[in-house]
Amino acid sequence: MMATEKVKCLIIGSGPAGYTAAIYASRANLEPVLYEGMQPGGQLTTTSEIENFPGYPSGISGLDMMDELKTQAERFGADIRHGVVTACNLSESPFQFTIDGEKSIDAKTVIISTGATAKYLGLPDEAKYSGKGVSACAVCDGFFYRKKITAVVGGGDSACEEALYLAGLAAKVYMIVRKNYLRASQVMRERTLNHPKIEILFNTNTLGLFGDTFLEGAHLVRYAGEPNEERFDIAIDGFFLAIGHKPNSDIFKNYLDTDENGYIKTVWGTTRTTIPGVFAAGDVADPNYRQAVTAAASGCIAAIEVERFLMRG
Ligand code: NDP
Repeated sequence: MMATEKVKCLIIGSGPAGYTAAIYASRANLEPVLYEGMQPGGQLTTTSEIENFPGYPSGISGLDMMDELKTQAERFGADIRHGVVTACNLSESPFQFTIDGEKSIDAKTVIISTGATAKYLGLPDEAKYSGKGVSACAVCDGFFYRKKITAVVGGGDSACEEALYLAGLAAKVYMIVRKNYLRASQVMRERTLNHPKIEILFNTNTLGLFGDTFLEGAHLVRYAGEPNEERFDIAIDGFFLAIGHKPNSDIFKNYLDTDENGYIKTVWGTTRTTIPGVFAAGDVADPNYRQAVTAAASGCIAAIEVERFLMRG
């Protein structure tokens, strides 16, 4: 059996929260070990251009930003590793973790920065056409839809961002929006509403998808359940989900308080959870803001709190 490794500070996840925590923790000599998780670099690696992170007046690609954060953390000695934390026991200190189902780690403190994952509508057809027209990431898969017809589901900032990205490639982009307005921020709303290639279908829901092997279209309903309900089909090659996210908190739920959507609860203004020594930073604990800059800030707070916690002994 492999010996159990002992660490002072374990960081789980490699988005802006995890990397920022690693930068601060390594500069404080806490010798942090960071596991990157299933998607190294996190969700920002699937976004196009980050235009709202302070200090990048011309914008920066998500991939480049995450590479730079990683390099910055490694410069100060953070030990960044491939691997997924597959189990944990937070009932006693040191906390116990299993990596990739085999390696054991004991940690005096842990920063959970596991982020969130895109949600799907829950239609059986989404699985049927997965990789054959259905995607939750326009930047990853948009390339395949050059000059084709696509649809994006959702009316928030993510949906507008996906639609605008696809509009740069595709012949046409529908947005399927269940309400009669876009909830996205004003700047995104205006860009989307004014784009000649984007057609917004308000008050519309998806009933199903169709196509022989690959996706060929979607069955939609407008004003579902109303007297003027109308069912119709659109021909599409790509169907992109942008309806929000689920926090990646499942393996911690037995130990930590979470809200009704699974976000880890922290003491207001801190990253402290219900267990001393266990901190949560970034999207996994943030149902409200979910920005790269707020995630980075909470990673910084978590590392400072770890340092103070360890100092108190
Ligand atoms: P949001 O929760 O803001 O929006 C989700 C959208 O999906 C809403 O329009 C919602 O409809 C719709 N939706 C949810 N469930 C369903 C369903 N089952 N069927 C159909 N439609 C559904 O999520 P986002 O991912 O867009 O954004 C999350 C956060 O991240 C926000 O705070 C946002 O501002 C931020 N963000 C910022 C960006 C930026 O600044 N550039 C880019 C991306 C995200 P309804 O309105 O009816 O609830």
